[in-house]
Order: sequence, then C-alpha cells, then structure tokens
Amino acid sequence: TKWVYTFGDGTAEGEAGMRNLLGGKGANLAEMSNLGLPVPPGFTITTEVCTYYYDHERSYPGDLAAQVEEALAHVGRLTGKTFGDARNPLLVSVRSGARASMPGMMDTVLNLGLNDVTVAAVAAAAGDARFAWDSYRRFITMYSDVVLGVEHHHFEEALEDYKARKGYDLDTDLLAEDWQVLVARYKEIVAKELGKPFPQDPKEQLWGAIGAVFGSWMNNRAIKYRELHAIPASWGTAVNVQAMVFGNRGETSATGVAFTRNPSTGEKELYGEFLINAQGEDVVAGIRTPQDITEKARLAAGSDRPSMEQAMPAAYAELVRIYELLERHYRDMQDLEFTVEEGKLWMLQTRSGKRTAKAALKIAVDLASEGLISREEAITRIDPLALDQLLHPTIDPKAERRVIASGLPASPGAACGEIVFSSEDAEEAKKAGRKVILVRVETSPEDIHGMHAAEGILTTRGGMTSHAAVVARGMGKPCVSGAGSVRVDYRNGVMLAAGQTFSKGDVVTIDGSTGQVLAGEVKMLEPELSGEFATLMSWADGVRRMKVRANAETPLDAKTARNFGAEGIGLCRTEHMFFDGDRIVAVREMILADDEAGRRAALAKLLPMQRADFVELFTIMQGLPVTIRLLDPPLHEFLPHTDAEIAEVAASLKVDEDKLRRRASELSEFNPMLGFRGCRLAVRYPEIAEMQARAIFEAAVEAGKRTGEPVAVEVMVPLVMTRAELDLVKGRIDAMAAAVKAETGVAVPYQVGTMIELPRAALRAGEIAETAAFFSFGTNDLTQTTLGISRDDAASFLVTYTAGGILPADPFVTLDQEGVGELVKLAAERGRAARSDLKLGICGEHGGDPDSIRFCEGAGLDYVSCSPYRVPIARLAAAQAAL
Ligand code: PEP
Ligand code: MG
Repeated sequence: TKWVYTFGDGTAEGEAGMRNLLGGKGANLAEMSNLGLPVPPGFTITTEVCTYYYDHERSYPGDLAAQVEEALAHVGRLTGKTFGDARNPLLVSVRSGARASMPGMMDTVLNLGLNDVTVAAVAAAAGDARFAWDSYRRFITMYSDVVLGVEHHHFEEALEDYKARKGYDLDTDLLAEDWQVLVARYKEIVAKELGKPFPQDPKEQLWGAIGAVFGSWMNNRAIKYRELHAIPASWGTAVNVQAMVFGNRGETSATGVAFTRNPSTGEKELYGEFLINAQGEDVVAGIRTPQDITEKARLAAGSDRPSMEQAMPAAYAELVRIYELLERHYRDMQDLEFTVEEGKLWMLQTRSGKRTAKAALKIAVDLASEGLISREEAITRIDPLALDQLLHPTIDPKAERRVIASGLPASPGAACGEIVFSSEDAEEAKKAGRKVILVRVETSPEDIHGMHAAEGILTTRGGMTSHAAVVARGMGKPCVSGAGSVRVDYRNGVMLAAGQTFSKGDVVTIDGSTGQVLAGEVKMLEPELSGEFATLMSWADGVRRMKVRANAETPLDAKTARNFGAEGIGLCRTEHMFFDGDRIVAVREMILADDEAGRRAALAKLLPMQRADFVELFTIMQGLPVTIRLLDPPLHEFLPHTDAEIAEVAASLKVDEDKLRRRASELSEFNPMLGFRGCRLAVRYPEIAEMQARAIFEAAVEAGKRTGEPVAVEVMVPLVMTRAELDLVKGRIDAMAAAVKAETGVAVPYQVGTMIELPRAALRAGEIAETAAFFSFGTNDLTQTTLGISRDDAASFLVTYTAGGILPADPFVTLDQEGVGELVKLAAERGRAARSDLKLGICGEHGGDPDSIRFCEGAGLDYVSCSPYRVPIARLAAAQAAL
C-alpha cells in the first residue's frame, strides 16, 4: 500500500480531490504544488495510516518507515539538505490534517530536526546564531508541550525569570547567548519532568511527532469536537511533514495568515495579519499583536506600524497574485497561511475560510455575480442554520453605551450576560438557565465547551485570527478579542476595566461588530433583512417547491413571521390565547363547571376575546392561509394550582372553594399527554369546539370586510385517532359555518382538516382523508407516540441515547426518518390515494429543521410550518432540498 504522498517543486502525488486520503491540509498542499505555487516540499502520511494505527493496537504498517525514509530523501533532494545531517541539516514541520478542519488535535511542531549538533550548522548556514538558538528553544518548547507532555508554563516561567534577571523587557531583547543559556535550562526542565533527556536523534523526534498527531486523534478534545460536529472517528487524520521555511530570519522574514475576503463582512478585500521576524504560532497564540497586511486596513485601523504592503512590497505583490489565483481556482473564499523567508513568499496552507453567516451570504452572492459560481451553487453554499446568526439582535445605536473597554470586532452580533471567567462556570451557568459572557485572557481548544455555553466571548489578548476569534465566528457567537485594557484576575474572580472592578456575576454587554465592551445590559435592535440576505432568499424562493408557513398565534409572532417571509400560518395554537389576563379565569370556569350550562356561560365570556384575536391574526395575514387548531392540550394545564388561583375562580363562579378544589383534583391525570386532550375535548364537550368555530367564522367575516380580501381559513382538529372522531367534530364545525353564514349573509371559504399525530391516524389515513381536506403532521406528538417517549420527560435519558449512538440525533429535534418518517410517508400516500388534492404539511418542531425539511421534500409535502425565527432557515433549506 502507498502510505506516503510527496509534494513540492511544482508537482505532487496527490491533489485536492484526495481529501479523504490526505486530509484537507495535505490535499490542498498537493493542489497548490500542482498549480506551481511556492510550497515548501514535503509529504503527507495518509489517513489510512491513522485507521491502521487504531486497528492494530497503535502500531504502524510494516512498510511505512521505508516510505517515510524515501519521502524524506526526496524532500532532501529538492531542498539540497539532509535530515539529521550535522553540516547541512533539513528541518521540518509536522502538522496534523484531518478531512474536516478539526481543532482539538495536535496542531504543529516546527523546527523539528534541531539538536545540539544541527543547531550549530543552522547558525553557520544562516550566518545568524541568534536565529538558530531561538528556533531551537521554540522547538524544545513546542515539542515538549505537544509530544512529551511537559507543559508550556515551565518554559514560560524560566523565560520570564531569565528576562527579569537580565533586565530584558521583550523577547526580542534576548541575544544568541541568552537563548543558548535558556536552551540548556529548557533541557534541564525536560529531563527533570520526564526523568530522561530531550531526544537528540532527529528520527526519534520525527516519529515522536508523528505518533503525537495520531495519538491526538483520540484525545478528549478531539473526541468532543467530533461529537459536536458529527465527524466519525473512523475518518482518521493525516500527518504532513514539510521542509521548514523561516519567518524568523530577521526583518525581511515574516509569517502571516490571510483571508481572501473579509470573514466578518464578506467584503471583497484581502484581509489578514502578519508579524515580522516571527514564526506561525506567534500570530495564532496572540502573544504579539500582529500588523495589517494591506495599506487600506492599516489606514482604517489608524495603526502606525507598517503594513505588509509597505514593508515587503514584493512579497505582498506575490501574495496578491496567489490569492487571486487560488480564489478563482477553488471558487471560494480562502483562508491562507504563509511565511516570508528573506523576502521570498511561501504558501503553507489554503482552505475554504470560516466565515460569519453575514459574510457567507455576501460571498455567495458576490461569487455568483462575479460568475464564479451559479445561483444554485450560491444557495447550497449557505448553511441554513447559520442564518440564525443574522436573525438576532444587535445593539440599538441610540442606546446609551457605557463603554468600559474596546477590543477587536472579532465576531459580529451583540450579547449580554453575567461575567464568568472559566469554561466550567460558563457550562454550569448555562445549565442553570443563566446567560453568561465568557471572559478569558485568551482561549484555547479546551474552552470550546465554555464558548458553546456562553452568549458571547471576551478576550484581552489576541488578534482577529486568534483562537477565540476564529472559533467564535464558526459558532456564530459574538466575540470581542484583544481588549487589552481589561485586566483579568482569575484568582480573585474579577476583571478591571475603565477603573472599575467587575466581579463574576456582574452583567456586561459585548458588541462583536464594533469591539466595544459595555457595562450592564444594553438595548438591542431587531436585525435588518435587506441586501444580500434578501437577494439570496429570493433566489431560494425561486427554486423551492414547498411553501413555508409559521407557527404563530400572537400578533407579534404573526408580524415577525411575515417579515421573515412566511406564506401563511400553519399552526395557531389557540390554547396559547387562553392564558392572557382575565381569560385564564374564564377558561378555568369553563373547565371546572359542573354542567353544560356552566361551561356555556364561561365560553360566552371567551367568545369575544377569541374572536378579536382571530380578527387581528387574519388582518395581519391578509388573505394568506391561516390554520387554526381547536383546543388541544390536556385540561390539567389550565387547572388552578395555588390557593389564590382557586379562590379567584371560586369567587368568579360563586362556588365553594373546597368543592372547586375537589373538582380540580378529579380532573388531574396520571398521563395527561395520553389523557383528556386533543379532539377528545371537542367530542366530550362539543360546546368548546362550537365556540371556537363561531369565533373563527365571525372573525373571518369581519377581517374580510376590513382587508377586502377573503380569509383563507383552515380549521384543524388535533389528535385524531379515528375517522369517526373527525366526522363528529367536522359536523359541528360545518353546522357553525352554516349558522354564521345565515346570520351574516357572508359565506366564509374554509376547509376542515386534521393533525396526524397518532400512529393509528397515520395508518388509517386513507379513510380519514375522506373527511379531512388537509393533513398537518404534528411530529412532536407523532414522535412521542411512535417512540413511546414522553416529550416532557425525555431530557433525563435521551442524552445517553444520542451520545452513545443508540439514536443518531434527538428525535424531537431531527425527525426520526426511519420510524416516524415511515409513518409520515405512509399516511401521505394513503391520504393522497383517497383524496388526490389532499394538502399536506408539517407543523411539529421538525418543520424548522433542515434535515427534516429535506425529508419533507422527499415525502412530497406541500408546506412546512415552523416558529417565526426559523422561517428563513426553512425557506433556504426547502430550496436546497429541491435542488
Ligand atoms: C405536534 O404535536 O407536533 C404539534 C405541532 O402540536 P403540539 O406541539 O402543540 O402538541
Ligand atoms: Mg401535538
């Protein structure tokens, strides 16, 4: 088997399409090589070696060592150097590279191959002893940390001690001799910590680093990341070994990262940071503050430190040439890593760049306009769920801003919450239902879980490409990074900003779009949905087949839904209208009444309120279809609980409190979800359905007069299990429609349909469709009743199922396509066979879930209905499903 693929000098054994075998980084290094770009030569050990390694008790294929030897020799020939040679040593970097970019794994070891002998040769060849010893100490630190497990702080402390003793301020103050002393000290530290010396044999170093990459595939952080992003463990990682080029060889050398377009806004401009006389990890770690790449960016930032464009015009011009070429080649925004060694530019990585949702939209629309991709491709480029980022509030520009610090606008959007200083605290607070801002000096992959739990992230160190910034953008969380004036004191759990002390639990607001940090909670604004958002959504609307409706009952929800492009209301849960103000008292009177007369009296109070609600809803929806569901929930949800509530109802009903308490306890149920609810209410107490039907039809008459548009009413009967139930309730509704017509002289066009939320209803869909004009799949209940898992009690055990892979996903979030989905398909088929124009929709939570929406497209549903904020997500997902 071929385990090793070389690249460099304008050719490569691999190419971009071999991502599965070579990992993302390896495949793209090969591709860049093939494109003739300046890539330091190297080789990729395939992901199959990783798989082999774990299938064979962490051992390598027998012929791997020979293939690595050969590849090393090849790299040696291209560079004119020899790995391990005392006079002309080849130094290499070792990097991981999975199929999907995967933080959490061992990332990089640089300068590998240095030891007490080769360091002298490197010094002599470069004519620069300081550079050689600086590189050596970097190597020892990195290698010890990521391969040998000797923590970074040991070396940091030794360095700080040394600087203090010598009276040095900056690392750049240290001379060759200083680094030489420190190297000796570092080696002592390693020997003390490990009980054996730092490995001097370059081969041993290399295999140590390779083993560390493969080993890190199974470390907790990587496992956790794969879990969060549904990456199978079987994929494995590749290892990239590449000849070193040095960004730390003085003022004509540099290292940098760049995006071919702005990853926050999507603006078409080269965007990035670089550091003169530095190695790659300096930029990412946020140890030194980087400089701008373009003059434009430098001027915008008002920085007096030169841009790359100024300081290294030739290398800059080459970077521009290459980035334009790469963007055209990959037809997407790229994230680049490069090094300038004594004026010459080298490319170390290219990949599709992470971006905010806002940037993703702009880039997709721009690329389509530039003719690089089609509109259909633009539609598929956007993750529907990521749109969520755009639909959330930003800080009201008119709000008072008590700015306590400013940092970089690392990830847009605003967030507000209590300060916490650790990821553990963030997670704990989240569990307790509190909102927090995670405040750190800088973040590392260990903080991923805390960043997930937090509303936003604030760091005091690091640039736009620091860990915090990159990860937050990926997560769509607001982030302010590098707020240097903030002092964080972890030990005492406080931070100092603008002369004030803020403790854990104090509320702050961060504005990831401006970089501001504000004291307290600040007023936020609803998002703007114009520009690229509107453009892309209109493209999506042009290709989708399914309609998108919203689940809404309040006027605000209905308006929001319309703003987001809802094409009707797919579910109005009337019971939500029963809790407002005095209504709940009337509802309780109705439930607790002894007889029909009592119920009718209470219902008469509800009628005008219910009618007024519907008039408003119909008016807002202006002729779009509105599905109103008759009362559905278990009655117990409305029962009075406290003594005060019972006293209130008793007074209103003029009955004895004790009697009322007895009646309430009679009505309590063991299994309310399988109890007296749904159409069973209408079957047992037809007067409830009658009141609701009257309110609906009278409201339709009135709203029709107001708007001049006929109201498209759909009356929906919940939780039907037999056709007979539906026939009975439909009879009452039809009678009421006739009555209202007789009274008003207006015939309201309407349909009566049902929800399919019980397996029996799905199975008997054929006969139910003879009565029902439409089906709306209530997949919340259908999931609950098909899986036999209570939707209200699932939390305590469901995680065990999803984490353990017993269920692929939470079935209440993503439709169980094999089980519940089969019932949906079967009901759709049987229903359509009985009534060819049967309208089919879904209104469970799944109606807003992209995977489930794809399923609905396949099942031939006519529409999905979801919560208002999900409407744009559903529009895009429906378009993608149709493509
Ligand atoms: C459902 O069951 O899927 C549904 C939409 O109804 P509810 O969530 O109100 O029970
Ligand atoms: Mg339901």
